[in-house]
Amino acid sequence: MIQVTKSILPDIKEYIAYIEGIWASGHLTNHGPLVLELEEKLKKYLGVKHLFFVNNGTIALQIAIKALGIKKEIITTPFSYVATTSSICWEGCKPIFADINASNFTISSAEIEKKITSNTEAILATHVFGIPCEVEKIQEIATKNNLKIIYDAAHAFGVKYKKQSILNFGDISTLSFHATKLFHTIEGGAIICNDDDLAHKISYMRNFGHNGQEAFWGLGINGKNCEFHAAMGLALFPKINWIIENRTQKLQLYDSILKKNPTLFRPEIADFITYNAAYYPIVFESEEILLTVKKILNENQIYPRRYFYPSLTTLNYIEKMECKFADNISKKILCLPLYPDIENEIILKICNLILNNIQQN
Ligand SMILES: *Cc1c(COP(=O)(O)O)cnc(C)c1O
Repeated sequence: MIQVTKSILPDIKEYIAYIEGIWASGHLTNHGPLVLELEEKLKKYLGVKHLFFVNNGTIALQIAIKALGIKKEIITTPFSYVATTSSICWEGCKPIFADINASNFTISSAEIEKKITSNTEAILATHVFGIPCEVEKIQEIATKNNLKIIYDAAHAFGVKYKKQSILNFGDISTLSFHATKLFHTIEGGAIICNDDDLAHKISYMRNFGHNGQEAFWGLGINGKNCEFHAAMGLALFPKINWIIENRTQKLQLYDSILKKNPTLFRPEIADFITYNAAYYPIVFESEEILLTVKKILNENQIYPRRYFYPSLTTLNYIEKMECKFADNISKKILCLPLYPDIENEIILKICNLILNNIQQN
């Protein structure tokens, strides 16, 4: 059975070596040595100033919203994983959807501008599939209108924009290290920022607000992660470059075959972007064709995923707001299996099944 992704695992001996260290120290959680080591390594690898390892990518988004003091409207993308919108609602704020760019599925800066009201306090945008948003234009809009920017960078681990980390744009970026992501710690995430005062706030907010054992800086929650999850991250850390290179080769193989068919649309990725090959989305001409292809792939034990369907505009806890492109693309897009060491023959088989069934339509 071939799934859309397969969690990468380190050599078990390397993982066990870290676990033996935990047995020796007796330090299981609460900012132990492995958590600190992972944070240092990630900061250096990603080229960012402050990075806080937290227990998942969703709490990272919630703490980001809380730390920036946002209470009212947040302009956001309807084309993302549900956590992008649900964290806004969970924090008691109101998501206002701005439609996406048809070329690469990221939120449209022109549409953001149309949605700004006196209640707008922030923009929460996703570098969807690891493709960077229009970060420079979004920064201009935010500066002009005095808005905060949060980037949900759950898919953008290792991505660079004009040679620098995509995580350095906006006020805060968040990562997810869930088992299905490109780099993972089983469960986990991170909050990234440049500003020292904001970093201080995030650091106490993820730890109940503690200022030492008997005092509190302010309101906090339990956003900490533990030594066992950090151990997984440390054991996988040396494989990161290999993971990205291998995924890129597999992506290029898909491209070399599928690009021959003009009815299939792939998102555009500009030359100045160093991509991480996090996903392989393709858009079909219609939902009907997508459903036919999906059925045939499933009959062959291949399970692509409809990322991201349905459009977040359809969530039942959200006021109805139409977004033409997002609503349309979400019905016609499929993510094909992509993970390190997926066999080339499987990719060829998937491509053939797709191409044959498009021709029949
Ligand atoms: C995975 C994901 C999240 C949530 O991350 P968790 O670590 O699973 O909580 C948030 N946003 C996007 C875009 C994601 O893909």
